[in-house]
Amino acid sequence: MMKILQNARVVHFSPGSVQESLDIVIDGSVIKEVGQNLAANYPDAEVKDLKGAMVTPGIVCSHNHFYSGLARGIMANIKPSQDFISILLNLWWRLDRAIDKDILYYSGLVCVLEAIKAGTTSVIDHHASPAFIKGSLDVLRQGYEKAGLRGILCYETTDRNGKDGTKEGVEENIEFAKSVDKVKAAGKRYLVEAAIGGHAPVTLDDDALRMLAEALKETGRGLHIHVAEDRYDVSDSHGKYQKDIMQRMADFGLVNDKGIFVHGVHLGAADIEVLNQHDAFLVHNARSNMNNNVGYAEKLPTVKNVALGTDGIGVNMFEEVKCAYFKHKDTGGAYWPGDYLRFLQNGNTILERYFGEKYGKVAAGYKADLTIYDYDAPTPLTGDNAAGHFVFGMSSRDVKSVMVDGVMVYEDRQFPFDVASIYVQAQKEAQRLWQRMDALD
Ligand SMILES: [Zn+2]
Repeated sequence: MMKILQNARVVHFSPGSVQESLDIVIDGSVIKEVGQNLAANYPDAEVKDLKGAMVTPGIVCSHNHFYSGLARGIMANIKPSQDFISILLNLWWRLDRAIDKDILYYSGLVCVLEAIKAGTTSVIDHHASPAFIKGSLDVLRQGYEKAGLRGILCYETTDRNGKDGTKEGVEENIEFAKSVDKVKAAGKRYLVEAAIGGHAPVTLDDDALRMLAEALKETGRGLHIHVAEDRYDVSDSHGKYQKDIMQRMADFGLVNDKGIFVHGVHLGAADIEVLNQHDAFLVHNARSNMNNNVGYAEKLPTVKNVALGTDGIGVNMFEEVKCAYFKHKDTGGAYWPGDYLRFLQNGNTILERYFGEKYGKVAAGYKADLTIYDYDAPTPLTGDNAAGHFVFGMSSRDVKSVMVDGVMVYEDRQFPFDVASIYVQAQKEAQRLWQRMDALD
C-alpha cells in the first residue's frame, strides 16, 4: 500500500537544502515521488498530514557496540585502569566474556530502542561475545527486526581467546553474511546487512588476517575493524611486522571500498594514503577517544571518506556530531558545521555500498528511511545554515517520528509495542551480567 507524508518541510544537511510543503509518496520501502500537491494523484494511499513538520533523510551511526548496552553505570568490581590496554583488560574484555544469549538480546534491544528514539535509522555494529560466538549475530538481528532498525552487523574476530576463538569468529561472520544473502536471493524484505569483523590489528596475527581475507572474498563484503585507536597498535605493527598498519591490511587484501576502519587516531600519512586509494571509510568517534584519552585524530582533514560513530557511548548522533565539532574547534581546527554534517552523511554512503540501494536523500528512488521532527527554528532555516541549526540548536528531543524501510517504527514519540517490560527485563539482565563479570577470574 502506498503511503504519503503530506505537507513536509524537507531538509537536507549535506549538501544543505530546505523545501517547503512537499508530499513524500512512499511505495513499499522506497520513495516513489516527492513534490507539491501529490496526494490527489494517489486516492487510495494512506495519508499522514505532517502539518509542515521537518523531515530529513535517516541518520546513520557508523560504528557502535550494542554488546555494551548493559554496561551503563556498571557496578561490577573493575580494577582501576590508567591506560587504554588496562581499560580493555579490566572492563571490556571481562564484559564481553560474561555475555550470554539473553544478555545479548536485551543489550541489543535497548540500544535499538535508544537509536530510534534519537532519530538514528541505521546502526553499524561491531560485536563481541567470546563465550557465545556462534549465532550471536542472529540474536542481535532479532533486536533490530523487533523494533525495525536498519544496520550492518559483524563479529569482531580476535586472537585473544586462542586459535579456536579466531576461527569461530571468522565462521560467524561468514555464516551471517550467507544468511543475509539467502534472504536477499529470496527477494524478501530485510533490514540487516553483514560486514566481516576484526577486533584490531594488535590482536590479529597473520594467520587471522589471511582467514579474514578469505572471508572477504567469499562474501563480497568489507572489513570492519579498529585501527590505531591507541599508539600501542602502531608500535605493535612496526615491532612485530615491520609495517604500517594500513599497509599490513592492504598486503592481505583487506582494504576495499566497503572497508570500515575505525578511530585511526594514530594513523600516519602513508596509512591514510592507503585508505584513500582504496576509497575506504574512516569512522571517527570523538567522545570515545576523549573518554579513553587516546589522543586526537588530527589527520581527519586528509581522509577522503570520514564517517561518524559512537563506539558504544549511546547512539545519539546529535550529541556525537556536536562533541566531534567542538573537540575539533578546541584543537584549532578549520572545519565548520557543514563538514561534520558531511561526515554524518557519509554513513549513508556506507549503506549504499552494502545494500546496493540509494540512501540519504528525500528524493524519488531513495530508501524511505526518514527522521521527522517538531523542531521550532528560532531563526530562519535555510540550506546554507541547516548544518549550523544541527550543531548549535537541534537535539534528539526534537525527534518526533521515525520511518525505516517505509515503515513508521516510532510515531509521535511512541513505539507500536510495550517498551516498559523490555526495560524491566534489561535491568535484570544487566545485574546478571555484572554478577557474571565478578565471577570471572
Ligand atoms: Zn569500537
